[in-house]
Amino acid sequence: MKKVAIIGCGNYMSQCFACPGDWKCLKSATLGEGRFEEESQVIAFVRCECPGRTVAPNTGFAFKLAEMKPDVIHLSSCMAIAKPDCPYHSPEEFAEMITAKTGLEVVLGTHEYM
Ligand code: SF4
Repeated sequence: MKKVAIIGCGNYMSQCFACPGDWKCLKSATLGEGRFEEESQVIAFVRCECPGRTVAPNTGFAFKLAEMKPDVIHLSSCMAIAKPDCPYHSPEEFAEMITAKTGLEVVLGTHEYM
């Protein structure tokens, strides 16, 4: 079973546009649905905060505190796919920043639930 970390858009979570960050990503990872290739263990859930400057270092810090690294990192669907999108960075820019910090692959998206 793969170990994964999820990074979610804190703005979406606090505004509750569609999801308060409490089940869709986690269900999709557990069942291996959506953008997850297989049933996956979530070892970290990191909340991005505007304007997104701290997300890469915070993600690296989460792995340090957990004393483990995931096999892959997913940007949540609200961060990578949903509209309105992030006004500060594209999903590809986030992925580049996070890969540069962690050395890990970043998948754009998590669940496909409405
Ligand atoms: S920087 Fe973008 S992705 Fe991060 S919390 Fe703000 S709006 Fe969401």
